[in-house]
Amino acid sequence: AQLDTLDIIVLVAILVGTAAYFTKGTYWAVQKDPYAAAFANANGAKAGKTRNILEKMDETGKNCVVFYGSQTGTAEDYASRLAKEGSSRFGLKTMCADLEDYEYENLDTFPEDKIAFFVLATYGEGEPTDNAVEFYEFITGEDVSFSEGASAEEKPLSKLKYVAFGLGNNTYEHYNSMVRKVDAALAKLGGTRIGAAGEGDDGAGTMEEDFLAWKEPMWKALQDTMNLEEREAVYEPVFQIAEKPETDPDSEEVYLGEPNKNHLEGKSKGPYNAHNPYIAPIAESRELFNEKDRNCLHMEVDVSGVNLPYTTGDHIAVWPTNAGKEVDRFINILGLEAKRHMVIIVKGLDATAKVPFPSPTTYDAVVRYHMEICAPISRQFLSTLAAFAPNDNMKAELTKAGNDKDYFSDAVASKNLNIAQYLEILSNGAPWDKIPFSAFIEGVHKIQPRYYSISSSSHVQKDKISITAVVESSSSPGMPHVVKGVTTNYLLALKEKQHGDPNPDPNGLNYAITGPRNKYDGIHVPVHVRHSNFKLPSDPSRPVIMVGPGTGVAPFRGFVQERAAMAAAGEKVGKTVLFFGCRNRTQDFLYEKEWEEFGKQLGDNFSLITAFSREGPQKVYVQHRIREHAAEINELLQQKAYFYVCGDAANMAREVNQVLVKILAEKKGWSEQKAEEEVRRMRAANLYQEDVW
Ligand code: FAD
Repeated sequence: AQLDTLDIIVLVAILVGTAAYFTKGTYWAVQKDPYAAAFANANGAKAGKTRNILEKMDETGKNCVVFYGSQTGTAEDYASRLAKEGSSRFGLKTMCADLEDYEYENLDTFPEDKIAFFVLATYGEGEPTDNAVEFYEFITGEDVSFSEGASAEEKPLSKLKYVAFGLGNNTYEHYNSMVRKVDAALAKLGGTRIGAAGEGDDGAGTMEEDFLAWKEPMWKALQDTMNLEEREAVYEPVFQIAEKPETDPDSEEVYLGEPNKNHLEGKSKGPYNAHNPYIAPIAESRELFNEKDRNCLHMEVDVSGVNLPYTTGDHIAVWPTNAGKEVDRFINILGLEAKRHMVIIVKGLDATAKVPFPSPTTYDAVVRYHMEICAPISRQFLSTLAAFAPNDNMKAELTKAGNDKDYFSDAVASKNLNIAQYLEILSNGAPWDKIPFSAFIEGVHKIQPRYYSISSSSHVQKDKISITAVVESSSSPGMPHVVKGVTTNYLLALKEKQHGDPNPDPNGLNYAITGPRNKYDGIHVPVHVRHSNFKLPSDPSRPVIMVGPGTGVAPFRGFVQERAAMAAAGEKVGKTVLFFGCRNRTQDFLYEKEWEEFGKQLGDNFSLITAFSREGPQKVYVQHRIREHAAEINELLQQKAYFYVCGDAANMAREVNQVLVKILAEKKGWSEQKAEEEVRRMRAANLYQEDVW
C-alpha cells in the first residue's frame, strides 16, 4: 500500500521520537536549567555533553569517578578532595561528577578495573539532596532495571566496585540515611563496597575529623583491591590561572562578580534558582531587637513583576558578598594586592575539572563573591599549603597542624580562625606569595547561599518575601577574632544603607554594597526561592500547634498571618497555638505588636504562649511551656492538630520531640515506646513537621 503524506509525517515523527528516546543521555543532554548551561558554557564546557558516565570516563581516560550528592557544597568539596588525593597519592585517573549530570542504567557495565565513589549528603528529613533525587529514586526503586536486562535478583551490579561516604547530622532522626540506603541498594544489586561506608556528623561538629579518620583505611583497602602503589603526593594544580594584565577589567566580557552570563550581559531573567539569582530590591528593612549588642533583621524582598513564586513555609536563599575587611586580608596575605583587579582566565587543567565560577574574572571578584574565605579551616588543606610556606619554621608548623588532630584543634580550630587570619598570625603579616592560587580554588569552599525560612504568607503578600534573620556574631574569651556571620552582617549593612548611612560599615566590615558594576545599587540583594514541605494543612479549620523560639518563629509569622487573613475573610479557621521563646520580653520579643493584631482577627482561636528564659530566677524554655499545656495539646492532637517545630536542631527540636512523647505517654497511659511510635507515625503522616537548622 502506498503511504499518503499524513502517514509519512506520522512515521517520521515516530522515527525521530524513537531515535531521540534511545539516544537520550548519549547525544542530547536533558538540560533542566538554561542558566546551568550558560554557566557551564561560560566555563568552557562543551555543549550537548554526554550523560553516559562510562563514555565520559573513556573519552577522558579516567578509571575513578567520584559522584557527589551535595546541597550546600560540602559533599562536593569532599568529592573533589578525594579525587585529588586519589590522583596525587595513588595515581588514579580521577574525575568528579555531579549525580544529576548522568544516567545510571548502564552501571551494570561499569568495568571491574574502575572504581566509583559516592559522596552523599543527607538533607532535611532523610531526603536526598536536590541533585541526587533522580539517582536515588532510580537505584532504590523497586523495579530498577539496567541496560543488560538482568533482574535485581541476578545481581546486575556484580562488576561494580564502589566507595561510600555520607554527610549527615545526628540531631536529625534520619541520620545519614542517604549513604545508608544507597549503600544497601548497591550491595543488594551485587555491588562490592571497598572499605567501610563512612559517616560524617555535622551535628557533633566532627565532619572533617570523621572524614579524615575514614579515608585512610579506605585508601588502604582500595590499594589492596586495585593494586595501587602509593607515591609521595606532590601538589598538582587543578586549575590554570592565566593573568591578562593587558585586558581592562571593565571590559564587558569580564565577570566582576556577576553570577552567570545573563547577569553579565544585563539580561537576567527567570527561572531563578540555585544557578541564577534574582537581584531583588529590598523594599523595607528594620531592626527587631531592642538591644545594644545583638541585631535581628526584618527585611521585605520585593519580587513583584518577576517569576519568583513562593508559597508559605518555603525558604529564601540569600547570596552573600564577603566583607571587604576579610577580602582585603585574604588578598594581602597572599601577596595579591598589586594585581587584585588584574583580569585572569581560569581553566580546568583536566577536561573534567569544573571551574566553580565564571571566567574571565579578577582575583578581587573571585575572593569577594565566590569563595567561602571566612569559614573554618580544613586540616587537610593545611598539609597542602605546607609545601609553599615562606620558611622552614612555618612549614613545620603547618605540617604539624595538618597532621596532628589535637594540635590542630588547640592551635587553629578552637580559635575560630579563617584561613587568612591563621596565615597572617603564622607569618606575622608577611605575604604567602608562593602558594598557587589554584590551591585556594580547590581548598576553600565555593561560597554558598544561606537559607531563611520565609516569614510571610504568600496568600497575603505574594509580591514581598519577608526574612527574619538574627545577625551572627560570636566571640569568647581568648579568641583573637570575633566571628561575624558572612550573610547576616551583609544584610545588616544593606539595612544601614537603606536607613541613610551612605557608607554602611558595621564593625568595620566594609562591604562592596553596590555589587559588581554597581548592579546591586539602590539596595538590592541576590536571592532565589527553595520549595519546602513545611506547610499549613490545606483545611484551615484543622488546629495547628507551632513551636518556634527565637528566629524559629519566622515561618510561623507567615502561618499566623495567613490564618488571620483567612479568618478576616470569613473562613472557618481552627485553633492556632504558638509557643514562642526568647531571653527577655523587652529586648528580643519578635513581632510582639503583630501578634496582637493577628490575635484580633483570629479571636479566641489564637493563643500565644511565651517563655522568657532570662526573666525569672530559673530559665524557662518553650519545652517547659509545652509541658505545662499538656492537657490542651493532647486535646488538640485528638482533633488531628498539625504540630510544627522550627529553629534550633541541636537541642530545642529534639527536646520538644521528647516532651511530646512524654505528654502522649502520660495522657494516653501508653509506654514511652508506644508514644514514640505515635510521634513517628505523625511525622510520616506530615502531622509533625520540622523546619530546623
Ligand atoms: P556564617 O558565616 O555562615 O557563620 C555561621 C556560624 O558558623 C558562625 O556564627 C560560627 O558559629 C560558625 N563559623 C563561621 N566561621 C567560622 C570560623 N572561621 N571558625 C569557627 N566558626 C565559624 N537563620 C535565621 O536567622 N532565620 C531564619 O529564618 C533561618 N532559617 C533557616 C532555614 C534553613 C532551612 C536553614 C538551613 C537555615 C536557616 N537559618 C536561619 C540559618 C541561616 O541560613 C544562616 O546559617 C545564618 O543566618 C548564619 O549565616 P551567616 O552567613 O551570617 O553566618
